[in-house]
Order: sequence, then C-alpha cells, then structure tokens
Amino acid sequence: MAAALKTGLTADCVDLDLDDDGNLLQIRPAFSGNIMAQIKTRTKPQMATVRYRVMKPLNRDPCRRGEVIVREAEVPEGTGIEILDKVEIMGVNISEADIIVAAGRGLKSPEDFKLLQELASLLGGVLGSSRPLVDSGWIGKEHQVGFSGNVVKPKVYMAFGISGAPQHLFGMRDSDIIIAVNKDPSAPIIGVSDYYVVGDLYEVIPPLINEIKRVKGLVK
Ligand SMILES: Cc1cc2nc3c(=O)[nH]c(=O)nc-3n(C[C@H](O)[C@H](O)[C@H](O)COP(=O)(O)OP(=O)(O)OC[C@H]3O[C@@H](n4cnc5c(N)ncnc54)[C@H](O)[C@@H]3O)c2cc1C
Repeated sequence: MAAALKTGLTADCVDLDLDDDGNLLQIRPAFSGNIMAQIKTRTKPQMATVRYRVMKPLNRDPCRRGEVIVREAEVPEGTGIEILDKVEIMGVNISEADIIVAAGRGLKSPEDFKLLQELASLLGGVLGSSRPLVDSGWIGKEHQVGFSGNVVKPKVYMAFGISGAPQHLFGMRDSDIIIAVNKDPSAPIIGVSDYYVVGDLYEVIPPLINEIKRVKGLVK
C-alpha cells in the first residue's frame, strides 16, 4: 500500500509518538535490538505497522470521529512476485495463549521442562521461555518471550526462575496477572508481579501440580 501511495513505511514499531509539529515518530528496535530508533518519514501520508499485541486496544468509543481521506492508489502490475506454496505454521503460537508457564535460567536442565509442561497442560496453558534457554537449544524460539522474541498478553503469566531483565519484561509486562517464583527476593520480576513466591521452583511446582490435580479430582 505504501509503495502504491509512493510513501514511506516503518514496519514492526513498538511505540508511536508525535513530535511538536504533529509528525508521527515511529519507534522500533534496530541493530538486533541494541538501539531503539526513532524514525520520521519525510513523505506523507506517514505509514507504520506495529508489532503484534504490543499495544492494548482501547474500548470502542462510537463518539470518536476521524477524518477519512479517500486516495486513489495505482496498484502496480507485474511485480515479479509469485506465490510458490503456502506453508502451515508449525508449533505453538504463544502470542494467543491465555496461560503461559515460563522458565528461565533457574531451570537446571532441559529435561526439567517436563515439570513445567505438566503444569502448563493441567492449566490449559503453553510453555514460555527466557532467551538464554532458547539460545542454549533447550526449547524452540517460538516459545521465547521478550524483546527479540514474542510479545505476549495472557490472562496469567507464570515466571519460574526468570530474573526479569528489561528485554524479558518488554515481552510480558502487560499480562493480566503475573505470578513469579524466584529464589531471589530482589529479582526485578518480583517488582512487576501480582503474586510471587520467594523460593525454589523445584520445591514449589510439584506440590502445586498435586494441588491442581486434587482440585480437578484427578487424585485424592
Ligand atoms: C539485544 C538483546 C535482546 C534480548 N532479548 C531477550 C528476549 O527477547 N527475551 C529474554 O528473555 N531475554 C532477552 N535478552 C536477554 C536478557 O538481557 C537476559 O539476559 C535474560 O532475559 C535473562 O534470562 P533469565 O531471567 O532466564 O536468566 P537470569 O537473569 O540468569 O535469571 C535467572 C533467575 O533464576 C533465579 N533462580 C535460580 N535458580 C532458581 C530456582 N531453583 N528456583 C527459583 N528461581 C531460581 C535466579 O534468582 C535469577 O533471578 C536480550 C538481550 C539483548 C542484549
């Protein structure tokens, strides 16, 4: 659309702002996420797309009115683009999950994800992860929450052994309820959580699983 309108486009913005002259400031990570670039396109209309779920939609307000300007667009033909095949997305889409059970470097081995998977399955949730475990190959990138992973907004986000680095918080801080389990009471994740346990995840999860099973009538 931007090409047809002969205007600029900034894709994958994580924030938007206006400067003093009313120009759109398009804010997005650049250089592998190491800086936040503020981009101001010179061409008008200014166009931007925002990263999925990075903004909370407002409730619908029918009183609000905006001016709609209809512009004719010349759709170019013969672009040379050809669809060769359609590929089904494999694996989980954690951006859509209502419950996420996430682990961080507090996990001692990749096998221990089984413990979290059991909890996630009982709650009807999916597994999430901080980046180091993804980088170590313990779990797929589609589970990574954060700046260079997925932005999630589940009803419940459970963080086990995750410190709460800014890059991780960026991806989950808007979750409805955040529950953290961490050995360190000064871990930043505690500060953003609605409920927390200062303790060892290996001591907290098994009784939690048993209690959920008991409540569900799966064990006596
Ligand atoms: C450009 C860039 C992009 C990044 N993008 C991302 C991203 O998308 N997502 C992301 O997560 N990170 C990202 N990072 C990395 C980020 O900076 C942190 O290094 C990372 O989030 C830390 O992961 P962690 O919390 O699992 O590990 P740590 O910071 O090492 O924290 C481990 C926590 O586990 C606790 N713990 C240890 N053992 C136990 C136990 N038995 N029970 C309970 N608690 C325990 C510790 O007290 C500690 O708080 C990025 C970094 C950069 C530079």
